[in-house]
Amino acid sequence: MVSNEVNQYIENLIPARSEHVDRMEQFAKQHDIPIMELSGIETLLTYVRLKKPNTILEVGTAIGYSATRMALACETAKIISIEKDEERYNIAKENIKALHLDDRITLLLGDANELQSQVAHYAPYDFIFIDAAKGQYQNFFEHYSSMLSQEGMIITDNVLFRGYVVDGSGIESRRRRALVRKINTFNQYIMQHPDYHSIILPVGDGMMVSIRKT
Ligand code: SAH
Ligand code: MG
Repeated sequence: MVSNEVNQYIENLIPARSEHVDRMEQFAKQHDIPIMELSGIETLLTYVRLKKPNTILEVGTAIGYSATRMALACETAKIISIEKDEERYNIAKENIKALHLDDRITLLLGDANELQSQVAHYAPYDFIFIDAAKGQYQNFFEHYSSMLSQEGMIITDNVLFRGYVVDGSGIESRRRRALVRKINTFNQYIMQHPDYHSIILPVGDGMMVSIRKT
């Protein structure tokens, strides 16, 4: 990943956001909600603008920050977003309503491991964004990549996990070491996947971009 100084430099150049977006960013900071980092969200939005998806599936809504920003970045996109935490789901609902995006963003409350049939209802998806429990990325990928449209793109966040995937020797907690192992397995699995071309961008917390081989 890039140094803090370089990241700071990049983030300082990013234009100010609207008042409501700014409020969501402040709220997330105050309540320790892991919304995308600035350089990460801007990268995601660039791909959304390029791709102009009609349908987006998001795994991990939190308070609706990335969902609303994707909706605002692409006026034609309809978004299905999954969140298992009821409190966050409710806050996301309010944010979506305040931005008048309720007709384009549908929230599903529940565990993304159990919602395949509901999610399939709105398939295929032109764009899938995975940003939930890191230990389960492989499951999410397997559940939902079959719902990707032929020209679709999948972006997976946090694949470099603060750099721990490179050097996990300093990690005290066993749970975290296991998590790092899982992310490493996922990264190897996707990078070698016969059906996808993938890259890992050292942006934000590490973003994997995958497109189907044609
Ligand atoms: N994409 C959001 C941030 C998501 S944070 C943004 O950038 O604005 C990750 C979210 O995933 C958390 O709110 C967490 O509750 C949720 N999550 C974790 N595991 C999940 C699962 N199995 N199913 C659904 N949501 C999950
Ligand atoms: Mg993330």
